[in-house]
Amino acid sequence: MPISPPQLPADTLDGVLASIARLDLPKRALIDGKEVAAHTGRTFDNFSSRDGTRINAIAACDMTDVDQAVKTARAAFDDGRWSRLAPRARKKVLHKLADLMQAHAENLALLESLDTGKPIRDARGFDVPASINTVRYYAEAIDKIYGEVAPTPHDRLSYVVHEPLGVIGAIVPWNFPLHMAMWKVAPALAMGNSIVLKPAELSSMTALYTAMLALEAGVPAGVWNVVTGLGTEAGDALAKHMDVDMIAFTGSGVVGRQLMRASADSNLKRVSLELGGKSPQVVFADSDNLDGAASAAAWGVFYNQGQVCTASSRLLVEESIKDEFVAKVTAAAKAITVGDPFDPATQFGAMVSQRQMNTALDYIEKGQAEGGRLLMGGARIRDESGGFYVEPSVLDNITPANTLAQEEVFGPVLSVMTFRDEAEAFRIANSTVYGLAAGAWTSNVSRAMRAANALKAGLVWINGWDACDITSPFGGIKQSGFGRDRSLHALYKYADLKAISISFEP
Ligand code: NAD
Repeated sequence: MPISPPQLPADTLDGVLASIARLDLPKRALIDGKEVAAHTGRTFDNFSSRDGTRINAIAACDMTDVDQAVKTARAAFDDGRWSRLAPRARKKVLHKLADLMQAHAENLALLESLDTGKPIRDARGFDVPASINTVRYYAEAIDKIYGEVAPTPHDRLSYVVHEPLGVIGAIVPWNFPLHMAMWKVAPALAMGNSIVLKPAELSSMTALYTAMLALEAGVPAGVWNVVTGLGTEAGDALAKHMDVDMIAFTGSGVVGRQLMRASADSNLKRVSLELGGKSPQVVFADSDNLDGAASAAAWGVFYNQGQVCTASSRLLVEESIKDEFVAKVTAAAKAITVGDPFDPATQFGAMVSQRQMNTALDYIEKGQAEGGRLLMGGARIRDESGGFYVEPSVLDNITPANTLAQEEVFGPVLSVMTFRDEAEAFRIANSTVYGLAAGAWTSNVSRAMRAANALKAGLVWINGWDACDITSPFGGIKQSGFGRDRSLHALYKYADLKAISISFEP
């Protein structure tokens, strides 16, 4: 399939629909630089979140296809076509990839919005530029990674080098399909590894498109392969493969556990897990920016229809300001423009699938059954479209033991709780099995510092939310997983230390 010609962003719904109609929709796997059907010829249907219609049929790869991709990736790694390329040459290729992604940014945004139901405005304004920035960041880092010389006796030189691991299996989710893929692919490629990427079955298209751009940029065939397919087939085969050196995963805890078991039962491949959370924003009455906090509380949970691993799905507000503050939050939530994801004015679109929509609706029902009071939302909307839309929803009266205070919804559902003092606030904030992100709003500097220390999470944001940047590591503690994406730290995840000692006559 030729890559579709680049397009400029259209600024109307009709314009966006016309742009989509001009796209060739990727649907086949990419192995050894070639687009291929699954060896069985099987496909699975890919549905539009926006209106429930069938978009296309994607290659359903299985164990045999995965094995082929891993063999290809291993051969590419071993012959050094990428792994032994001079760092500066690899850097040039990755910058070229970023240039091509920039040129094709609109097509990537269209495919991302089509696959997931996220607003085209977000795909254009966040997913695609953040993915390009990720590629550039790691391209730039390639020739700035040094080894070490150890302090040894005079008759010996001992030094330590970072060696790429080999074949990386990356298994990624559907909430930010391209961005999550590039958080793994870019540092893994930068370190010289080969990759077999398994996109989520709900969102395969931007991974395929970008891997084809990578070929054009000069990433040699076989270095970056994409196996599309179901998690239980293609994903499982990758996890159990005896010649995959590492699985880099973002997704659910259930699958994360299976990946660790698969590693133990196969070749002890490394595993890194980014598994989501139940992140709290704690709002103290002493904050002099309650308007900012209210906006962050609403956007922190409703961005991307709540399908964000760091979604601030728990709002902990000091009892004395609860009514006033919650009114601000619901006002901010009501100001969000809900609509067709392809309308450039839409800020809140469709959920990814019928299943994810029903999960969110079930949680809302359960929250009410356990005593929660629905302050806004709570229902499916725009059902005449055939798409999967749930209103931004806020439930009050949630207690720390309730299901809605403990389980990740991965949908647009905010649970409101109160606290009386700082100790209680931190205790409730830390009272889940998760530890991905947490935040606090306060104008007391000492309290801010105490919050930063007390909140048990891999990411802590004080007086702001989602202060994300490629320059700082991203990942969780507790059952939110382990291993970090982003920053220079992520590079070292895809490398091993080799200690070399050369003895000589002094
Ligand atoms: P999932 O964990 O089932 O899927 C994530 C990826 O794993 C997909 O590529 C999928 O194909 C693959 N996969 C599924 N089963 C597999 C298996 N047995 N072996 C290997 N790979 C497998 O997540 P989901 O179904 O897409 O969503 C379910 C829940 O996961 C959500 O409700 C949410 O709680 C969580 N989730 C978290 C994140 C995050 O960013 N942390 C992202 C998406 C989903």
